[in-house]
Amino acid sequence: MGYDIVTIGGMLCEIMRKELDKPLDAAADFTGPYPSGDTPIMLNAAARLGARTAMIGVVGNDGFGRCITNRLEENGVDCSMVRIHPDAATGVAFVCYYSDGSRNFLYHVHHAAPGMMSPEDVDLEKLKGTRWMHITGFTMSIGKGSAEAVYKIIRELTPDTGISFDPNIRAEALGVEKIKELCRPVIERASLIFPSRSEAKMLTGASTDDGGCRLWAAQGKLVVLKNGEAGSRIYDGDRVVDVPSFPVDEIDPTGAGDTFCGAFLTALCEGKKIEECGRFANAAGAMSVRKKGPMEGAPSRKELEEFLRSH
Ligand code: ATP
Ligand code: MG
Repeated sequence: MGYDIVTIGGMLCEIMRKELDKPLDAAADFTGPYPSGDTPIMLNAAARLGARTAMIGVVGNDGFGRCITNRLEENGVDCSMVRIHPDAATGVAFVCYYSDGSRNFLYHVHHAAPGMMSPEDVDLEKLKGTRWMHITGFTMSIGKGSAEAVYKIIRELTPDTGISFDPNIRAEALGVEKIKELCRPVIERASLIFPSRSEAKMLTGASTDDGGCRLWAAQGKLVVLKNGEAGSRIYDGDRVVDVPSFPVDEIDPTGAGDTFCGAFLTALCEGKKIEECGRFANAAGAMSVRKKGPMEGAPSRKELEEFLRSH
């Protein structure tokens, strides 16, 4: 039968500042752990909306590892491909928010459990029949092992599994040039790309995001540009469709893009029209920013449908 959506990447817990404008180099209060990681956030959202999902990743044998794994399992994600490393600690992201809306991340990832991922974590037999394999630039930047695991996936999985790619470039991790080089083979194989603001421009070398998205679309890829509170724009062949956002009170923007991707892929698997997928995903992204914590606002299927009916 196969999964609808599988992803591979950093399973993390997030520890965030309680107050704005408390930089990470001074003492102040934190709150958490909140289950996190770009790929787990995406997958958790898809599972809550009804997709058949599975996670590939590595956690430590500790409370944070159980925090993230339990959350995914509670929401229906198959974690049988998640490995528990006996010595390495589960990945952590510390986050502080500034009043101008910017964020600063500090990762314990590369030398922690996520950095122990390897091609052996990819069980090709189990992945047969998967409809979408979702890859992010963050996964590519974790370490050599996780990048090699992704290359194994794009080399070995048959074309009936689509590759979707979210650049999710966090310059803190590796620097843009290195990420570009690492991601090039994934972008080539991808049939669906989910850039955020400035990423299409950065990755293609075009002078604008619009130019970069059109370039990918001309290569036959479906491109879905995430544009924060302004909604999203879909490039489908020669067609460009703007999908308006839903007004909400934003409490915590982290994870909106990942939640959006999970919802969009779920809708695609259900055979919804492209515009409908955009509306469904915009709603999920908007709902996700209403709560503190990257996964806490991810709607259930029922909540999302009620939200769509009332807007
Ligand atoms: P991140 O990488 O931090 O998860 P992103 O930059 O990839 O985020 P965004 O564009 O911020 O992704 O958000 C994804 C989608 O969620 C948007 O396209 C939009 O539909 C919805 N969204 C995000 N923020 C808001 C908001 N404040 N109000 C309404 N909708 C929002
Ligand atoms: Mg993003």
